[in-house]
Order: sequence, then C-alpha cells, then structure tokens
Amino acid sequence: KALCQGARKAEVVCAPPPVEKEPDFDWALFWKFLRPQLLALTAAVLFALGAALLNVQIPLLLGKMVNVVAQHMRLSEYLRLVREPALRLLSIYGLQGAMTFGYILLLSWIGEKVAGSMRKQLFASLLRQEVAFFDANQTGQLVNRLTADIQEFKSSFKLVISQGLRSITQTVGCFVSLYMISPKLTGLLVVVMPFLVGTGAFLGASLRRLSRKAQEQVAKATAVADEALGNVRTVRAFAMEAKEIQQYSGEVDRASRLNMHLGTGIAFFQGLSNVALNCIVLGTIFVGGSLMAGEEITPGDLMSFLVSSQTVQRSLASISILFGQVLRGMSAGARVFEFMTLPSEAPLYEKEQLACSMLSGRIEFQDVSFSYPTRPDYQVLRDFNLVIPANKTVAIVGHSGGGKSTVAALLERFYEPTEGAIFLDGRDICTLDPNWLRGEIIGFINQEPVLFSTTVLENIRFGRPGASDAEVYAAARLANAEEFIHRFPDGYNTVVGERGVTLSGGQKQRVAIARALIKDPKVLILDEATSALDAESEHVVQEALDRAVAGRTVLVIAHRLSTVKDADLIVVLSKGRVAEAGTHTELLRKGGIYAELIRRQTKDGV
Ligand code: ADP
Repeated sequence: KALCQGARKAEVVCAPPPVEKEPDFDWALFWKFLRPQLLALTAAVLFALGAALLNVQIPLLLGKMVNVVAQHMRLSEYLRLVREPALRLLSIYGLQGAMTFGYILLLSWIGEKVAGSMRKQLFASLLRQEVAFFDANQTGQLVNRLTADIQEFKSSFKLVISQGLRSITQTVGCFVSLYMISPKLTGLLVVVMPFLVGTGAFLGASLRRLSRKAQEQVAKATAVADEALGNVRTVRAFAMEAKEIQQYSGEVDRASRLNMHLGTGIAFFQGLSNVALNCIVLGTIFVGGSLMAGEEITPGDLMSFLVSSQTVQRSLASISILFGQVLRGMSAGARVFEFMTLPSEAPLYEKEQLACSMLSGRIEFQDVSFSYPTRPDYQVLRDFNLVIPANKTVAIVGHSGGGKSTVAALLERFYEPTEGAIFLDGRDICTLDPNWLRGEIIGFINQEPVLFSTTVLENIRFGRPGASDAEVYAAARLANAEEFIHRFPDGYNTVVGERGVTLSGGQKQRVAIARALIKDPKVLILDEATSALDAESEHVVQEALDRAVAGRTVLVIAHRLSTVKDADLIVVLSKGRVAEAGTHTELLRKGGIYAELIRRQTKDGV
C-alpha cells in the first residue's frame, strides 16, 4: 500500500513537464539512432571528403590546360600536349561525379532510416504517456514534433555532412592551392574576403530573420481564414462576415508588406553581391596581370587562382548559411528527443492479473481524493467513498462539473488518486496490470464515442483484437446495431469515414456499445451514454444498454435523471463527496439534492 502511495506521489511530481522551456539536445540518444548506420555514415563522409578534395584539384588542372591553350602552337602539337591534362580532368570529373552520387545516396538512406526509427520511437513513447500528459500538451504540437521537427532535423543533419564537410574541406584545400600559386595574390584576397563574407553573412542573417517574420505573418493570416471557414455556421449566425473579411485583409496586408520588404532586401543583396563578386574577378585579373608582366605567374596560374577563389567564396557563403541551419536543426532535434526520454506509464513494480472467472466485480472507492495534475490546487474529489456491489448498477448524478466523469477516469486508471485507493474484489487496482484492467475487465462507453476510419467490423473488433467475425456479429446484435449495419450497401465492411462522420449519433453509439461488449467486460462504465441523442435514438440505444448491463457491475454517469431511475443505487455527488445515496424512491422521499434536481428537470420539461 505504501509502495502504491509512493509511486503515485512520484508520478504526480514528474507528471506534465512545462513545454515552454527549450530542451537541451540529447547527444547520447542521437548517437543511439546513428550507431546502426555507422558504416554507411563513414562511407558517406569519405565520399564527401573525396569529392571535396577532387574539387580542389580541378582549378589546378584547369590552369595547366590554359597554359597549353595559351601557347599558340600548331594543331597537331596542341592535340598531343593537351591530351594528358584533358584526360586527367575528365577522369577527375567522372570520379567526382561518382562520389557525389555516392554520398548523396548514402545520406538520403541514412536520413530516412534514422528519421523513421525516431518517428516510431517518439510515437510509441507518446502513446504510452499518462493521460495527464495529454492534458498538458496540445495534440497539434505533438504531431508537429513527429512531422515538421523530425523533417527539419533530418535535413539539417544531411546538410551538415554534405555541404558542411564539403565546404570546410574545399575552403581549406583551395586556400592551400591559392597560397601555392601566388602568396601575394592570396594575401590580397585574405584582406578583402573576410570583409565581403562578413557583410554577406550579416545581410543574409537579417534577410532570414525577415523571411521568418513574413512566414509567421502568413501563418497568422491562414489561421484567421481557417478559423472562420471552419466555423462558418457560427460566423453566419452572428452576421460577422464583414468583420472576419476585414480581419483577414488586415493580416494579409501585413504579410504582403513584410514580403515586399523581404523582396527589396533580396534584390539589394543579389545586386550587391553580383557587383562584389565581379569586382573580385576584375581585381584578381588586374593585379594578376601585373604579376604576369613581372613573370611571377603564368596565365594558367591566374586561371587556377580565379577558379579556386570562386570555390572558396561559394564554400564560405554556404558555411554561413549552414550555421543558422545547424542551430535550427539542433533545436528541432532537441524537441524530438525531449518526449522520447520521458518515463512512460510502465508499471513501477510487478503487476498482477486476477483470474477472470473468479472475479466477482465488486468495486470500492476508499477515501479517494483527487486533483488533476494540470490543476493541482483544485480538489475535484474529497474523501470520496463508494461501494459498487458485484453485478449491481450504481448511478452517479450531480451538477455538471461536480466530478462524475472524474470518478470514471480514476476507475479506468487514466489518473491515479492523490490520496486513498480503489479496490476491485478487494485488490488495490494500482497493483493490477493496467492493460489487463482496461483490455479485459472494464468496458467504457462515453458520450461522444470516437470511431476510427476503418470498417464497422474492424471498429467493433477494436474492443478485442482476437475476436472472430461471428463474435463481432453477436456483439453488434447485442448492441442493437445489426439491423442498421445490414442496411448499409457494404454491411459490416462499410468504412465509417474519419472519426465516424458517416454514421448518425445513435448509430455511432451502438457501434461503440458493440465494441465495448465484445470483450465481455465484467465492469461497464457508461459515461452519459445517451445524453447526446434525440429521443428516438435514445430509445434504441437505451434498449441495447439495458441488455448490456445484465450480469455486470455497472457505473452509470448521468445527466438525464430519467435514465437512472432503475439503478440499484443512486449516488449524488456534490463538492467532491457523496452527499446522498439511495434508490430513486428513497431519495425522492428524502427531499434533498436529488429531489431538487428531479423537480428542476421536470419543470424544465426534460
Ligand atoms: P462532471 O462529469 O461531473 O461534469 P468532471 O469530472 O468532468 O465533472 O469535472 C470535474 C472538474 O474537474 C471540473 O471542474 C473540470 O473543469 C475539471 N476537469 C475535468 N477534466 C479535467 C482535466 N483533464 N484537467 C483538468 N481539470 C479537469
């Protein structure tokens, strides 16, 4: 018992992490994903380095070609002399192409493998989190980590190896050849280049900042449109079209202005860099020409120098872009890894399963207090005590927000009580295997059943994956669903559409009942199972439910008092405690909260 309490405390303390703080990049975890690809990665790195080193050779060989070309000789002699450098150049081109092919191919394989296994692991660890985790984190953001963040991380990783490695090697290599060709010209370049690259990097960074701002603004405009179009009925009902259009126009105008600023910036940047690059070429030829006049260098050297210096420029520019990309990739990676390392709902100690045939299904809540982890100072249940005898139906009623659904959530072990305990056949449920408890013992039917976008048959089978078709049909019959399913052209193979949109409320509800009944649960929780239905559907659904409760321990959570009159025991929940308990007649006679609720509902004509 003490063990359970300790575990609960620990879970409450470490429950939902604050999302705002930027998490740190987990190198160890990254290495775990990368290690299986080590061989391929080494090959990719070697190929990338090889391609870069060959790129360093190319300007030198071009220079040699030019020296041959510049000699003004007869055609036959020219062909003889030019053959050797030309063939060498050709073979280097070929080799360089092959290596480029190799490392890009390998990197894309490695990228997909690593991203795939990261996706799978993140999805699995998200799905195993406590329900409280999903109270604290928005689904959209979680999906974003699976998609956009992993994508960003993958492309940054690939860029670092391909472009980063290549650019650094090329910069170093070309500088060495530049120095060997002409120390004087190189000296000049060393003075001018950092200034140019620095200006370029500075302008580039501010352009990227502007571009991010513009994108955010476009997203903001999209969000306005999305909200208005998605809720068009509400917009129309309030005749708010003009205001929505005005708001959207405002956001679009702001986005256009930002994008025009960005366009101006890019135009300026491109124009300026064209002038700068051309001036460097001109300057090199100008100064190089004077060195040539002094016979310090050959025309071929000048050519090599020009091409090499262009390679250095390109490499430096791509390194400066890469820098921002690396930072973005690391923070995307950190977001992905953050939720992978969270402890999951895994049992902290050996969990037991009880023999189903021996189970009576008696449930007892003993002095249960509870606050939601996201709202720790608000106590929903306070010393809540309730016994649900085996095979009886107990209904919980009370004001909305009184904690009725919370009682059901605690029984399902979606959350752990802050204090007290819940017993099944005298065993604290926190010592029982939660998968067994939810998978085999407790059936849950809630007011807005969610179906998955597959066939009716598979939706019912979701309740017990091993069930045969015949068992699915039997469950559907029990749930009053057979008749309408047969009326569908595809019968049980009808695909229900995303979230079951193609079924009516009552039909969905009956499929959900069949899904819960197929596991033949000993305990059934009905969370306001009929409150969202019209009178006619309610009738068929209620009929199915009446049949379903026979021989089970049932906890009904109800708003409509009409549905709970026949319960063996009605419990009125008020301020987190049981305020009254008894049968319908007993409670009416008592004239307390229940009698008042009944009186009010009758007055409202419900
Ligand atoms: P009822 O079923 O009686 O209408 P609930 O059990 O749904 O009441 O809710 C009881 C209280 O707990 C309400 O004040 C509600 O706002 C709060 N609550 C319900 N679910 C959550 C949750 N996931 N996180 C935080 N608070 C919650």
